[in-house]
Amino acid sequence: MYIEHITLTHYRNYPSLTLEFDPKVNVIIGENAQGKTNLMEAIYVLAFTKSYRTSKDKELVMWDESYAKIEGTVFKRNYHIPMEMQFQSKGKTAKLNHLEQKRLSHYIGALNVVMFAPEDLNLVKGSPQVRRRFIDMEIGQVKPVYIYHLGQYQKILKQRNHLLKDLQRRKTTDITMLEVLTDQLITHASEILIRRFLFLDLLLKWARPIHQGITQNKETLTIDYDTSIEVEKTAPIETIKQIYQETFKHNQQKEIDRGTTLYGPHRDDLIFYVNGRNVQTFGSQGQQRTTALSLKLAEIELIKNEVGEYPVLLLDDVLSELDRHRQSHLLNTIKDKVQTFVTTTSVNDIEHQTIQTATIFHVDNGQ
Ligand code: ATP
Ligand code: MG
Repeated sequence: MYIEHITLTHYRNYPSLTLEFDPKVNVIIGENAQGKTNLMEAIYVLAFTKSYRTSKDKELVMWDESYAKIEGTVFKRNYHIPMEMQFQSKGKTAKLNHLEQKRLSHYIGALNVVMFAPEDLNLVKGSPQVRRRFIDMEIGQVKPVYIYHLGQYQKILKQRNHLLKDLQRRKTTDITMLEVLTDQLITHASEILIRRFLFLDLLLKWARPIHQGITQNKETLTIDYDTSIEVEKTAPIETIKQIYQETFKHNQQKEIDRGTTLYGPHRDDLIFYVNGRNVQTFGSQGQQRTTALSLKLAEIELIKNEVGEYPVLLLDDVLSELDRHRQSHLLNTIKDKVQTFVTTTSVNDIEHQTIQTATIFHVDNGQ
């Protein structure tokens, strides 16, 4: 799939702009603070309905304007699919084929995007939240029902935490309500967990050979999913539910004492190992980068396998962060098959061969 064109209106520092894209490589060149990342972000937002840089949608709207709009057409399975995201003070609307989609899970997944930004080099070293967000976004865009379960889970989790706080402070003694919320939480927690297990299994299958390729067979990558409950990664959903039920039952008082939910996918984490050693603890910076890069490249193949077409790849500022060897590995992988957007402040950062065949856009202060 690829993005044919995009039109931005009052999006961050872009008052009004239409761009026709190259189905292969698009290089965005500009000085600092001209709008390179904003353009990458707009493509990301068109795909995911929200930014990776902020949780506040109103920051996407150009200062002193009342709304922001991103329109685009995606070419996928021989169709031209119009997509549109609009943000205003009373909320946001997502349109697919010109029709408003009330459920975001009906919208996300129409355009598949893999983004690789400097923050992603943090995937290994950063907080568990970074890794959870990574798996949630990736599963969500290939399995839309996952977004539904995640949304429900977060809503119930919030209510349950609220109730646990009230129980802790003895503002209420409503244990029946706690049990109702726990049951609801478990339903979605189990759906999330089983999909994470399946996804990580697939991800590792793609990531391991890629990682071996980059390290010239010197390193073997392993991923471990660290859960808050004791469960086999191959367990059927009924077993997962049962274990959650037992765990919550056993720890009810503990949760009330702490005033928060101590078990569930929001507490889980990923652990990466290279040759059996934890990369987060023992890996060099280079090894951590290689791991992050392997995971991103694996995602590209995984999406192709699940969706049937390659996703669009966004590379914001990362080429200069990778050494020649890793950079050419990256560029060779995507060559001729993945629509790619690369930002840079200097063409010298990009391999000569890539620049020669690419379409180049110069960004200057939102123009
Ligand atoms: P760098 O090379 O430093 O990464 P960049 O070209 O990626 O720079 P962007 O992050 O895209 O730069 O930001 C460009 C400008 O957009 C910034 O100067 C910022 O102040 C401005 N900007 C951000 N949000 C808004 C907004 N809501 N309205 C208007 N301008 C904004
Ligand atoms: Mg930038």
